[in-house]
Amino acid sequence: MDKRSIAIYTNEDRYSEETTSNLIAKLEAAGYAVTRELTEDVVLLICIGGDGTTLRAIHSYDFPEVPIVGINTGHLGFFQEIRPDQVEDFIEDFKAGRYTLQPITAVQAEVETADERFLYKGINEIVVRGSNAYSTHLNISIGDSFIEKFSGDGVLIATSTGSTAYNYSLGGSIVDPRLKLLQATPIAPMNTTAYRSFTSSILLPPDLELVIEPENERHHETRIINDGNEHMFIDVKRIRVELSDTVTKLVRFESYDFWNKVKTKFL
Ligand code: NAP
Repeated sequence: MDKRSIAIYTNEDRYSEETTSNLIAKLEAAGYAVTRELTEDVVLLICIGGDGTTLRAIHSYDFPEVPIVGINTGHLGFFQEIRPDQVEDFIEDFKAGRYTLQPITAVQAEVETADERFLYKGINEIVVRGSNAYSTHLNISIGDSFIEKFSGDGVLIATSTGSTAYNYSLGGSIVDPRLKLLQATPIAPMNTTAYRSFTSSILLPPDLELVIEPENERHHETRIINDGNEHMFIDVKRIRVELSDTVTKLVRFESYDFWNKVKTKFL
């Protein structure tokens, strides 16, 4: 039999470590080699922990093409597909090919400063904020149309997958992951006689970009946060946010149903 490899990424939680040892023994008994590296023969990446662990794995392996599955060890576990007590069934189903792959299209932000460009990708979202102490003022365009000068804490641009994360806490809509779109949600928008900002989320089709130009006259700081990873700038000219060509694949088994997951995790 062809010995194929499965890579494991785990957080340092004690329960995750116990789950990992048990998993390694069962995978090896089923004929798989287990590795921590994403070598060419790896057919699956298993992330043990919560959603945060899966996000960290995707970022540390730079949005890998190999299918990913999560084992939830006591967190919210929205990405996570398997409980630790389901490991044996999971190995059988995986070996027999009884699963589907859910494509997750990343969002990307191209940040242009006076003399450089940076690219950041997110599975959940890109957040554009000012400093913690002051409001930020952002000129926002959709495609070629200038929409408004936003004033407030910032703007979050979520994928459908990220709609249930920070976006949801901000009052954004939950989006079925089969819909390919971006959702721009304001963070503490100001609406006074001095400032006018949109207060609801805006949904964008996959081929439109959101262009954000910070007004840097008074407060220079701009923070770009992709899935919780923060990058600080003092000289941003423009940020272009759009859907990326990068697609990550999550393994889903027969019992997976997005709306059932929403019900069990949120209601
Ligand atoms: P964290 O602040 O430690 O955890 C944030 C929570 O969000 C965790 O409970 C995590 O689930 C959950 N989560 C992550 N992705 C999700 C998704 N797609 N749908 C539903 N829930 C999700 O940070 P972290 O664990 O490193 O995760 C980074 C994410 O935190 C960011 O992408 C952002 O969306 C989110 N966040 C949320 C808020 C907020 O809601 N106020 C503020 C900052 C950041 P697990 O418990 O399973 O890990």
